[in-house]
Amino acid sequence: MDLQTDIPHSARIYDYLLGGKDNFPADRAASADIVGDWPNLPTSMRANRKFMARMARHVAAEHGIRQFLDIGTGLPTSPNLHEVVQGVAPESRIVYVDNDPIVLVHARALLTSTAEGRTGYLDADFMDPDAILDSGQLRDYLDLERPVALSLIAILHFIIDDNDVRRILDRLLEPLAPGSILALSTTTFDNNPDVVAAGVAAYNAHGIPTVARTKPEVESFFSGLEILDPGVVAVHRWHPDQESSALDDAEVTIHGGIALKK
Ligand code: SAH
Repeated sequence: MDLQTDIPHSARIYDYLLGGKDNFPADRAASADIVGDWPNLPTSMRANRKFMARMARHVAAEHGIRQFLDIGTGLPTSPNLHEVVQGVAPESRIVYVDNDPIVLVHARALLTSTAEGRTGYLDADFMDPDAILDSGQLRDYLDLERPVALSLIAILHFIIDDNDVRRILDRLLEPLAPGSILALSTTTFDNNPDVVAAGVAAYNAHGIPTVARTKPEVESFFSGLEILDPGVVAVHRWHPDQESSALDDAEVTIHGGIALKK
């Protein structure tokens, strides 16, 4: 398997900026360059990771969801989504999906399910939703007669075309039972437009196609669903805890929200 460690990669840049060890010199050099343009990026990434945990706990505890399909999982970073969800309900089942070979290499750390639940990993691409839906992994692990939370945390800024995002979301949501949840977060210009524009340009200059969106664009990804309280907000403002409440709005350049399929 060629991991192309001489070329910077989004998952490894994210890992490096979160303080992880699964990254290489090319990733660290690109990170330094990108952060030069986008100094608040590490803060934003940490706020996103904490949003993921609050979202997962909320969806499990308040909505009673026991099945998660998490696409764009990233390198294992504690706590991982299944640890949060199984902390609420040990019988929960989680299918992780990522298209990056290095995430596949580290996937064992995602497969530490409770005995009562299950976690699986699928090496697949968001751009090919049928491969995800038709996979034995998904059909074995998730019961589509019951609600599923589809989580897309910090992946959609790597899917450049809004029409692709909408078409694929429709396809992924179609077989899910009423009561299912879509949870997503993606980079926004809104809190700090000039810095984000420069940072996104730096990602692109390093060969990682990336896009930032406005709040109405992010909201449009939930069309046909009921957006739940508090709507689409900067991730540190989503059901905040004390730590996230203390963050300055200009530091957090990623929007998040959840919505219900009726
Ligand atoms: N969800 C995690 C990780 C986000 S990093 C978190 O928020 O903490 C983004 C991840 O999306 C990376 O691991 C990258 O490999 C993955 N990714 C990017 N494009 C993808 C695609 N088309 N299909 C599947 N995964 C993708």
